[in-house]
Amino acid sequence: MIEGSKADAGTRRLRMGMVGGGPGAFIGDVHRKAARLDGQVEIVGGAFDIDPAKSHEMGRILNLEAKRVHDNYEKMIEAELALSAEERIDFVSITTPNNWHFPVAKAFLEAGFNVICEKPMTMDVREALELKRVVERSGKVFALLHNYTGYPMVKHARWMVREGKLGRVQKVVVEYPQDWLLKRIELEGQQQASWRTDPKQAGAGGCLGDIGTHAENLAHYITGLDIEELSADLTSFARGRLLDDDVNVLLRYENGAKGVLHSSQISTGEENNLNIRVWGTEGALRWHQENPNYLYYYQQGEPVQILRRGNGYICEAGKRATRIPTGHPEAFLEAFANIYMNAIATMRAAMVGEEASELERDFPTVDDGLEGMQFIETVVASSKSKEKWERFHR
Ligand code: NAD
Repeated sequence: MIEGSKADAGTRRLRMGMVGGGPGAFIGDVHRKAARLDGQVEIVGGAFDIDPAKSHEMGRILNLEAKRVHDNYEKMIEAELALSAEERIDFVSITTPNNWHFPVAKAFLEAGFNVICEKPMTMDVREALELKRVVERSGKVFALLHNYTGYPMVKHARWMVREGKLGRVQKVVVEYPQDWLLKRIELEGQQQASWRTDPKQAGAGGCLGDIGTHAENLAHYITGLDIEELSADLTSFARGRLLDDDVNVLLRYENGAKGVLHSSQISTGEENNLNIRVWGTEGALRWHQENPNYLYYYQQGEPVQILRRGNGYICEAGKRATRIPTGHPEAFLEAFANIYMNAIATMRAAMVGEEASELERDFPTVDDGLEGMQFIETVVASSKSKEKWERFHR
């Protein structure tokens, strides 16, 4: 276990390492931009690619010291532990395909580092349960990139549900359709499609793990409701594809509420159409990711209220997640940065021996990751079963 450099941990930039995010990768670059948005972080090293030559190429692109760029994550951990506490990374961000999340996260946590990890958290529930134990034993911060919970108006929606503005929630409809996997572009070597359609790298869910888990997490974050049982139908429409590219799920929640969750990667014309509607006994909400600065609030017989980011009536968590005044749109990168902002504040608090506030601890954790893996497992089991209703595997 390492001690870390505590002396100036409350103010200095935290040192970030990265595993994944090599040349041509998608989300690693988003992490690098989002992490640095508030000037709280500097990127100092990494093992950026499965191909060592490309890892070093990325280090050069990022102008990093050559000695901080490594062939693989094992060598990176060894080298970081050999550095002084003043140089060593404070945390690592894991932006590899899914099959690497568990071994990399476990190794860094056990070496004493904080971890920010992509979703889905692991390959299965067994790994997720073990990772939860590792996180708890380590006492380190573990944040999971369910980035849609970082939007101010999503935080306000959650606050409104908690404040009882909707009464008792009775129905949730959440959908996340895309169209980019309509054709088998994985056969043409498209990088992001190749591993996402391979069960050995993606896990048991295709579209389900990739974006279905975001939809489930968003519904859970806003409503606070736990799924009791579900009935699912997974399809691989693209002939010969091994994993699902279309997901339809009926949900029964513990309070008697009902839900419908649909995600798809073959829905022509759809880009990132994450959309959630929540109906309660006294009111209803709608939020749409492609137009994220607005939250629609409905009360029966009343004109719709359009609540807007940046205004005085927005809840504290939503205000904290806002950087610029009303009418100047904020979106994906800022929401991503909000997960970093809170995870980093929580790391800083721990480094100076303090307890992070509730607002600072507002980011997805290992428990959300475990729930995501349980969701995938339960949906796959239900889809295979003739009985249809499957109890949520907790
Ligand atoms: P990608 O294929 O674009 O990039 C993956 C990168 O990881 C590549 O550079 C690859 O060489 C590297 N890599 C693979 N194995 C490695 C290893 N063992 N060590 C070091 N580097 C390694 O994939 P992507 O689309 O960026 O997705 C990466 C992860 O991010 C996935 O888990 C995915 O589910 C997740 N993701 C999340 C969001 C989100 O909105 N939160 C969006 C996209 C992707």
